[in-house]
Amino acid sequence: MDSEGFREAAVSSIDEIISYFDNISTRSVVSTVEPGYLRKLLPSTAPEDGEPWADIQRDMEAKILPGITHWQHPGFHAFFPCATSYPSILGELYSSALSGACFNWICSPAVTELETIVLDWLARMLGLPDCYLSTGPTRGGGVIQGSASEAVVTAMVAARDKYLRETTPTDLSEEAHDDFVAHKRSRMVALATTMTHSSTKKAAIILGVRFQAIPVRAEDNYALTMPVLAAALANCRARGLEPFFLTATLGTTDTCAVDDFAGITAALESHNPPTPQASFDMNMHKWLLTNFDASCLFVRNRNWFIQALSINQAIYSTGNSGSASPSDGGLVTDYREWQIPLGRRFRSLKIWFVMRTYGVKGLQAYIRRTTALGEDFAAWMRAREDLFEILTGPSFSLTVFRVKGATEEESNARTKRLCDGVNASGKIWVSNTVLDGKFAIRMMTGVRATEKEHVEAAFKLLVDMAGEIVKS
Ligand code: PLP
Repeated sequence: MDSEGFREAAVSSIDEIISYFDNISTRSVVSTVEPGYLRKLLPSTAPEDGEPWADIQRDMEAKILPGITHWQHPGFHAFFPCATSYPSILGELYSSALSGACFNWICSPAVTELETIVLDWLARMLGLPDCYLSTGPTRGGGVIQGSASEAVVTAMVAARDKYLRETTPTDLSEEAHDDFVAHKRSRMVALATTMTHSSTKKAAIILGVRFQAIPVRAEDNYALTMPVLAAALANCRARGLEPFFLTATLGTTDTCAVDDFAGITAALESHNPPTPQASFDMNMHKWLLTNFDASCLFVRNRNWFIQALSINQAIYSTGNSGSASPSDGGLVTDYREWQIPLGRRFRSLKIWFVMRTYGVKGLQAYIRRTTALGEDFAAWMRAREDLFEILTGPSFSLTVFRVKGATEEESNARTKRLCDGVNASGKIWVSNTVLDGKFAIRMMTGVRATEKEHVEAAFKLLVDMAGEIVKS
């Protein structure tokens, strides 16, 4: 494809993308294709000769879009929002044009420096403490990862190494040191709750350390509290285990519960661990109009990552590695030492475009609007307590509810039928979970295209269908 061909193809593709967004509500939210549908539509080998763009583009609508579940659809109420926006898409376009594996500062200084700057902006937007700023007092800073799961593995590796450094005597012979570390590693345990996202367990599996999920209770709104954590820590101690990592969550996966951070701090202080590492991660690609992937990980001291993940290999030593000297404003760093992969994309560009296009106020307005939709939905649910019971929420933009029944089994069966029924309508898509044996529907109102009329329509569909189920 030459420049003229690209111009034509790009104009036509962008027109098509705009039309996709403008008409998205006419599509079924969830894809209805059969498993394996695509193999029947595509040849078994790549084409020998190149094909004209028009043919390729035609196949987007004919073959790919039927297999897409539309996360930007106003009737998408499942899981969590996975927002995108035009400035974010433009950021990706430039980023792919400037493609490079920008693992060190010199591989593209702008890629590294913009990332550090926009993550400082994000830390300030979120009101994070100064320790997470690249210019902060503890030499902290942020790094963009592909996903929260990658971020948790990264943080856990650093936490494991830091814990071992701080708890291993320094005067051991090499052999005694190795034996000591091997024994200690077998007792180290990563903690989370039964409501924590899968990433903590997965990180523990990858690292080969123990994992323990602390059960949380309905009466605590499924949040981790001080007494529950204190009891779990005491239990670990009694079993000779050494907790070295804990995930606390602000908005858990199933119910958007907020763990009791102050209580957790108090429980940890009395447990008296070595200096906490304190990493914070949030996915901008959920609720901040930035498309997947943009998981923003902040650490209180960048050296914890660098000490754990730095590998000295002549080919990658470009001479500019930084440990955030005050003279460079914390901007000269080799991000390969803050992550699992070597290469990295120019992901900060889309964040920069989004923040500049919407401003903090624009992003706040979107979050407040969609949170208010969640509150409206919960209020309407409460007004129909003849049919529904809210189990949790509204929390952020999520309400978790079920259809009432004379028994637990009846309620579960009715709720499952309702969930399947509304999803089969193609008009909305909700997800489900099970809380203490109670089958429940999760209704999220955070998608940018979702307006009050869409939530009203979704509520009406739920009421009508639940009414029929109860009657039958
Ligand atoms: N963290 C929490 C609390 C979540 O609920 C989710 C999504 O369900 C994630 C992280 C996403 O994980 P990842 O970024 O690895 O896809």
